[in-house]
Amino acid sequence: MIDLAEFAAAVGDADAGPVTITGLGTRGGPVPGVRCVGAPAGIAWLQPDEMTVCCGAGTPVDELVAALAEHRQTVALPAGGTVGGALSVGRADVRQLGWGPVRDTLLQARYVSAAGEVVKAGGPTVKNVSGFDVCRLLVGSRGTLGFLGEVILRTRPLARASQWYRTSAEPAVVQRGLYRPVSLLWDGTMVWALLEGHPEDLAAQAASLGMEPCDGPPTLPTGSRRVLPPAEAMASTGTFVVELGVGVVHHADQWTSPTRDAREAALAEAVRREMDPTGRLNPVLPVHG
Ligand SMILES: Cc1cc2nc3c(=O)[nH]c(=O)nc-3n(C[C@H](O)[C@H](O)[C@H](O)COP(=O)(O)OP(=O)(O)OC[C@H]3O[C@@H](n4cnc5c(N)ncnc54)[C@H](O)[C@@H]3O)c2cc1C
Repeated sequence: MIDLAEFAAAVGDADAGPVTITGLGTRGGPVPGVRCVGAPAGIAWLQPDEMTVCCGAGTPVDELVAALAEHRQTVALPAGGTVGGALSVGRADVRQLGWGPVRDTLLQARYVSAAGEVVKAGGPTVKNVSGFDVCRLLVGSRGTLGFLGEVILRTRPLARASQWYRTSAEPAVVQRGLYRPVSLLWDGTMVWALLEGHPEDLAAQAASLGMEPCDGPPTLPTGSRRVLPPAEAMASTGTFVVELGVGVVHHADQWTSPTRDAREAALAEAVRREMDPTGRLNPVLPVHG
């Protein structure tokens, strides 16, 4: 277990005023003018047989992935930042179709609340049905409900082989023809598929659909990211990449419409008021923004 006393003291109690937290600052770093803290880093324990790992939320995802690879396991978090940053943003990368949403990765969190207390949420077992599932609230809340200090994550087996393929075939044909692809991307012309498993199975599946191996996925447009119903996603125009089966559309254009409806926003604000009545944690951010 990681000692969170120093981290909790740095966050301070309700009288300590506004405070923000940063990981590796992948998307901009600390909020200007607000006191900033960082979560502890380091792997506390790794239990390959239980497929769980416990680490400080400040641990870089790449470091965790390297440590897990020695046990032929990995974790479903986007690479590049810290574990805490990835969880608090809550956005999966293009492997969400096969690897599931980021929230499913977090089994237990010990976080520092707005009152400056260390709170434990969830538990390191998959069958964990008692009480409120606060872990699911924390994922995607961008540090507005609590600052993650230590987390227990579900790991997953590392596939024997992993390969991207592409084809100009119809997306529906590719979707039907592949067994549990990890990712399926479509830009209106080409389909890219990430397959994982036994090398011979991957090659046979790809050959049956006339797919060519390629180095990786296409570059994702960065103008906007929306989650749309399948029919709307498939009706995209302009420069886009759709994550098939997930509904995420990466578009070159900025998205100007509201990203969530008023009821959803009111509920998110009510939860925030309950967990952080003075709005001191990451004060400039909307919840689930
Ligand atoms: C607005 C936004 C959009 C993103 N979109 C995508 C995307 O579409 N696809 C994708 O793969 N990745 C996306 N990311 C994820 C991002 O690139 C990293 O996975 C993530 O930010 C982790 O990197 P970091 O450690 O540098 O976190 P930072 O960039 O330092 O922090 C990210 C956010 O997490 C909060 N945070 C950091 N540590 C903690 C902690 N211990 N407890 C609580 N909150 C914490 C920060 O206050 C900040 O709000 C997005 C990130 C942001 C902020």
